[in-house]
Amino acid sequence: MLASGSSGNCALLATEKTCLLVDAGLSFKELSKRLAAIGEEPGRIDAIVITHEHSDHISGLARFTRKVPVPVYLTRLTAPSIDWENATPRIESFQAGTSFAIGDIEIDSFTIPHDAIDPVGFCFRAQGVKVGLVTDLGYIPDSIKFHLRGSHVLMLESNHDLEMLKVGPYPWAVKQRVMSRNGHLANDVVGDFVRHEFDSSTATLILGHLSEHNNHPEIVRLVAQQALDRRGLATKLVIAGQKEATEVFQF
Ligand SMILES: [Zn+2]
Ligand SMILES: [Zn+2]
Repeated sequence: MLASGSSGNCALLATEKTCLLVDAGLSFKELSKRLAAIGEEPGRIDAIVITHEHSDHISGLARFTRKVPVPVYLTRLTAPSIDWENATPRIESFQAGTSFAIGDIEIDSFTIPHDAIDPVGFCFRAQGVKVGLVTDLGYIPDSIKFHLRGSHVLMLESNHDLEMLKVGPYPWAVKQRVMSRNGHLANDVVGDFVRHEFDSSTATLILGHLSEHNNHPEIVRLVAQQALDRRGLATKLVIAGQKEATEVFQF
């Protein structure tokens, strides 16, 4: 995870043959810096896959594709909502819920409940490794739990602490939006998921998209770790943040 949070999201997935960005919510300069820190560079990217059109996921997209002309994969309904600033890149649109491949990475897309035009989560598969990535969702429908099963690495949103959100600085309408079935996942919902339905064979659980004002990494860690401990799981727990990239997970 190069960045995760309400002011910028971007992940890198790579095999020896194929290098993908998932979302492009970092400036070109910041993205270049974070790629350099892990021995990568913008020119190595083969394609960008987009989850939805909210600015924290696409703010760096138009500029990146002007500098590095890579194809952008996004859903058929999301595509027209992006402002390309007069330099539309190669668009590869897909129907939400379908599967496709980029190089040697196979990608399953699935619809997620969130207040965007046509938001999706993804599972990526290559060389027997499966990575699930889903953020920006108001709740976790059974269909998504099914998709995420068998992930070796699972990146999931743990957006807010419900009590902090309630007493926090947001206007009431925004609080209602965040808490709604099309908003964002609360820490406790993630805790319940880990306690009851999380796949025990998942080796690494990354929690991210933390609210800057209504959450704290230590609360996220505590809630998830208690749930893992309750099940006696030794899953590696990583909290992804806004200011720096996580470690690189290699298989
Ligand atoms: Zn977001
Ligand atoms: Zn969003």
